[in-house]
Amino acid sequence: MRVLVVEDEALIRTDLGEALTAAGFLTESCRDGAEALFLGDTEDYDLVVLDLGLPSLDGLSILRQWRDHGRVMPVLVLTARGTWSERVAGIEAGADDYLPKPFHMEELVARARALVRRAAGHGSAIQTLGDLRLDGNQMRLTQQGRPLKLTALEYRLVVYLFHHRDRTVPVTELLEHLYGDDESRDVNAIEAVITRLRRKMGTGAIGNRRGFGYYLRGTAE
Ligand code: CA
Repeated sequence: MRVLVVEDEALIRTDLGEALTAAGFLTESCRDGAEALFLGDTEDYDLVVLDLGLPSLDGLSILRQWRDHGRVMPVLVLTARGTWSERVAGIEAGADDYLPKPFHMEELVARARALVRRAAGHGSAIQTLGDLRLDGNQMRLTQQGRPLKLTALEYRLVVYLFHHRDRTVPVTELLEHLYGDDESRDVNAIEAVITRLRRKMGTGAIGNRRGFGYYLRGTAE
């Protein structure tokens, strides 16, 4: 799950980045409105956390333009405390949720996870598939009741496949959502992660359509 944090206050931006990374997200951040507009228009994110007061272009204008351009990723808006008009304007501009500042990081992470789940069509934090059980809040994946020890990258890949389990996910999409715009990303990296996961989960747990992508079967076989 790839998230963009748009916040011009360095301290909050850093805290948000650390908390979301610890929660299993691939986190990118930017501090400038115009840059945020460009990133949201051109990159695929599973979630955007958007501050409203930003240099060069304000958050509401950014959000309106994204929605005008057909960008549908979930957006959580950060508003100033007590300004109900900002919240209304945010929702009217296409925000999926909002949180007034100052906020508790735990609440932000919980809302972030819920938004990503809902966007993928799943309401509950606990999802099962075959003999796999994912607890998104605890960041725990178990197979036949046995916890699987996964690296951050392996966990992100399984969660992405879990959220999109009704289809085969193209390798290019996995690259985008697991590595972001990291220059070092390539197809072999994904294959290596899949190989490691199959070793841990059983070869049958992840299926593939050759030359296209991967899907979660959820049974070790
Ligand atoms: Ca600000």
